[in-house]
Amino acid sequence: MENVIILGTGCAGFTAGIYTARANLRPLILEGKQPGGQLTTTSEVENFPGFPDGVDGFSLMDQLRKQATKFGARVEHAFVDRVDFSGEKKLLFAGDKKFEASAVIIATGAAPRLLGIPGEQEMYGGKGVTTCATCDGAFYRNMEVVVVGGGDSACEEALFLTRFCSKVTLIHRRDELRASRIMAERTIAHKKIEVVWDSAVQEVLPDEDGMARAITVKNLKTEEVTEICCKGVFIAIGHVPNTAPFKEILELDENGYLVPDSNSMVKTSIEGVYVAGDCADHVFRQAITAAGMGCQAAIEAERWLSEGM
Ligand SMILES: Cc1cc2nc3c(=O)[nH]c(=O)nc-3n(C[C@H](O)[C@H](O)[C@H](O)COP(=O)(O)OP(=O)(O)OC[C@H]3O[C@@H](n4cnc5c(N)ncnc54)[C@H](O)[C@@H]3O)c2cc1C
Repeated sequence: MENVIILGTGCAGFTAGIYTARANLRPLILEGKQPGGQLTTTSEVENFPGFPDGVDGFSLMDQLRKQATKFGARVEHAFVDRVDFSGEKKLLFAGDKKFEASAVIIATGAAPRLLGIPGEQEMYGGKGVTTCATCDGAFYRNMEVVVVGGGDSACEEALFLTRFCSKVTLIHRRDELRASRIMAERTIAHKKIEVVWDSAVQEVLPDEDGMARAITVKNLKTEEVTEICCKGVFIAIGHVPNTAPFKEILELDENGYLVPDSNSMVKTSIEGVYVAGDCADHVFRQAITAAGMGCQAAIEAERWLSEGM
């Protein structure tokens, strides 16, 4: 039986790996279908402390992997599809494989929802299409950008982008925003924001270097298709937390995020089971906050294990 199994090799999982490995727990990290997590899909990370010149997401995750394995963490490619946390031994299943552990740290992250339109994947993560204004807004200084969505996140992203961008066009499928009233009013009133109602983005168009230069938008009432020039396309239609295996085992909120115990950011209602990173955080969703939660979960797991040893 393992001391501790960590699910996920994003910032949260690897940080938990570094801490538990340095505590001599020889953690086993299961990496799922996206080795290195979401950050591997972006070319430039400028806000992770310690990298004044920025770092590309893939290299950062490679460094975290090296740091965790250097101290004895083991990484195995396995996607956990079922868990049983009812006994003292926590059981995790990945297809035919079964794993057993005293403690489990769930750091399975989240996946941003995308539109599934032509050009989106090709220009995602460094070529103009992104899902994070906090991460990428500063790259679009004095440029025209669009935000797609109509909820609180879309409004927040649009308002944040007005600090950098010359113009922000918000594209929304309906004729009113789903966001809270105050957010919606603030967004609509902002002089840098134009809202395009009743419209859906059809395609992201590249320039000759493969970077986003425009989108085509269809008005869903008139069916008219127009082109909007923009260097950045910020998709803000939500995230899907990777928490399916924990349904009915741990508490999830209405959007599927794991809900930690009210007294802690990382403990759950089951002793020895901890959460970290974007799978339990719909607010901050940053590499550094995920890493911070990974550290907290690891220290909690280590303390809990040492009480029982
Ligand atoms: C395009 C893009 C750009 C970004 N840029 C920045 C930035 O510049 N700065 C910043 O701070 N943040 C940025 N972010 C956000 C940042 O990537 C996330 O906040 C961070 O990756 C969250 O880390 P995590 O460890 O919680 O989860 P993730 O990175 O989502 O990793 C989840 C891990 O869990 C694994 N997994 C999932 N399900 C299972 C399962 N059932 N069994 C086993 N393993 C599983 C996955 O394979 C993956 O390894 C960006 C995100 C995107 C998408």
